[in-house]
Amino acid sequence: MSEFDETYDFVVVGSGGGSMCSALAMRAAGKSVLIIEKTALIGGTTARSGGVMWIPNNPFMARDGVEDTPEKATAYLDSVVGDHNDTPGASRARRQTYVAEGPKMIDFLLGQGLKFTRVPYWPDYNDERPGGSEPGRTVVAELFDVNDLGPWKDRLRPNFLTLFATLDEALKLPTFKQSWAGKKVMLKVGLRTVFAKLRGKHYVTAGAALQGRMLHAAVKAGVEFRTEAPVSELIVEDGAVTGVVSEKNGAPSRVGARLGVLVNAGGFAHNQAMRDQYQPGTSAKWTNTAEGDTGEMILEMMRHGAAIAQMEEMVGNQMSIPPGQENDPVKPVVQGMAAPHAIVVDQSGVRYMNEAGSYMTFCKNMLLRNREVPAVPSWEIFDTQYITKYMLAGTMPGASKPSRWFKEGFLKKADTLEALASLINVAPATLRGTVDRFNGFVMKNHDDDFQRGDRAYDRWLGDAYHQPNPSLGAIDKGPFYAMPVVPGDVGTYGGVVTDIHARVLKEDGTAIPGLYATGVSTASVMGRSYPGAGASVGPSFVWGFVAAKHALATVV
Ligand SMILES: Cc1cc2nc3c(=O)[nH]c(=O)nc-3n(C[C@H](O)[C@H](O)[C@H](O)COP(=O)(O)OP(=O)(O)OC[C@H]3O[C@@H](n4cnc5c(N)ncnc54)[C@H](O)[C@@H]3O)c2cc1C
Repeated sequence: MSEFDETYDFVVVGSGGGSMCSALAMRAAGKSVLIIEKTALIGGTTARSGGVMWIPNNPFMARDGVEDTPEKATAYLDSVVGDHNDTPGASRARRQTYVAEGPKMIDFLLGQGLKFTRVPYWPDYNDERPGGSEPGRTVVAELFDVNDLGPWKDRLRPNFLTLFATLDEALKLPTFKQSWAGKKVMLKVGLRTVFAKLRGKHYVTAGAALQGRMLHAAVKAGVEFRTEAPVSELIVEDGAVTGVVSEKNGAPSRVGARLGVLVNAGGFAHNQAMRDQYQPGTSAKWTNTAEGDTGEMILEMMRHGAAIAQMEEMVGNQMSIPPGQENDPVKPVVQGMAAPHAIVVDQSGVRYMNEAGSYMTFCKNMLLRNREVPAVPSWEIFDTQYITKYMLAGTMPGASKPSRWFKEGFLKKADTLEALASLINVAPATLRGTVDRFNGFVMKNHDDDFQRGDRAYDRWLGDAYHQPNPSLGAIDKGPFYAMPVVPGDVGTYGGVVTDIHARVLKEDGTAIPGLYATGVSTASVMGRSYPGAGASVGPSFVWGFVAAKHALATVV
């Protein structure tokens, strides 16, 4: 029998999405929990993220009169994810468990005092498929006054959005020049900011609101946290995981776990060697995940016989990274790719996808295209209407951009398409032909090649104030521009295979006793697809909840 330096009922490796959810379930049953986090900050990439959870049939849909049922959600997942032999993380049984447990997880957290709501309109990413929801299935945390965390305030990982605005408001803000709705949101956020400052409040939003609220509830419930404490090993006795080795005050510490260990340690987006092995052609330089996303816990679980799957998958997020921002922790994503007056072409000047697809699909298309024609980076081609109306590489709408962008060749500009083509080494006739063809589709209001603008999702992502189709607008007003786009990501999406109880499985399909995993340390329940906003954070929470319930059920 192992000697432990200390023992808890449940030990969680990593402070990601599912960590505090599982810990709250454990504390509700009176069990002791330690969350061990490698970095100095709590919350993982989840705290940095949009904080959206994709939870079908969630209570806020019913509250707002938005129709959904488990059957409808299952039909959607059947259609989008489907049954495939090579995606064991997304088996039908796991998908059904996900649909059943999601609303229970939300109810549980509401019962713990968490304050959530939904984004009023955020279509599923394949809303046109059977069971797709046009209003969407999102759950988000309400704005959170981070001062409520008291001494824990500085230990929460910050979010990329520093505005005192909800995600819904932040999505509408860039339209302030075009619409009264945008101006109204701007005023509302401005007034909230002034009043908050007067009242000594500091609101955080998106993932920081989610993880801030979770941290607040967890600390109150007596969950223990240890930061700057990388876990290096799982302790295994007679085939069962009984604890972990982690650092404590700079020295190794053996921590026992009576009911089990939950790994919620993120993926391997910052591990270039693992990327080269499983996702060749992608780069750790193009990820927006937090720095702890280095994959060693996936390797450690593999060392103890865990099966892995879906390792080639990442949640791509198209990026244009301006000079000087290469090392920013959060690099600018291409905001307006579904907006009118812009397309994406490969390095031969040919269009090859529906640019308004989800970010995962966009980057998949780019990497697939690159197998035939150089397409990494691709070129975003747009005109003066686009640059004046929409955000570009993190800058607000308007034609004036940093001079460095032009000097260092990041943003190319020319009076004619032919001259622009020469600047990006594309045959002028090819680029002209591509743009003319697209403009022809705009004229007839239908993209015959890639059906851009057919789905509600494409139109929502476009420009609501551009008609008749919010995603289709001609590229016809010079000057014209080109900017490189790379297949960045917001996380990897493959990992260890887990069952309907979130137990880690071996190749032979048997569970490793005492070992659970959730989040992007696992092979996603969504397989190779991204059904809607929140398809990473949602599963991390749900499987954390499921793991805790299973571990508790083993108590005799
Ligand atoms: C800008 C941005 C926006 C996004 N928006 C959304 C969104 O709205 N909805 C959505 O679903 N997805 C979103 N994503 C993706 C999503 O945030 C991540 O995929 C998800 O948060 C991963 O959660 P997780 O629980 O698996 O792990 P994480 O939240 O990444 O947490 C893992 C933690 O484990 C720690 N860790 C790693 N190794 C060890 C170790 N050896 N010992 C101890 N600790 C360790 C890490 O430091 C980290 O803190 C977004 C991502 C980004 C970057």
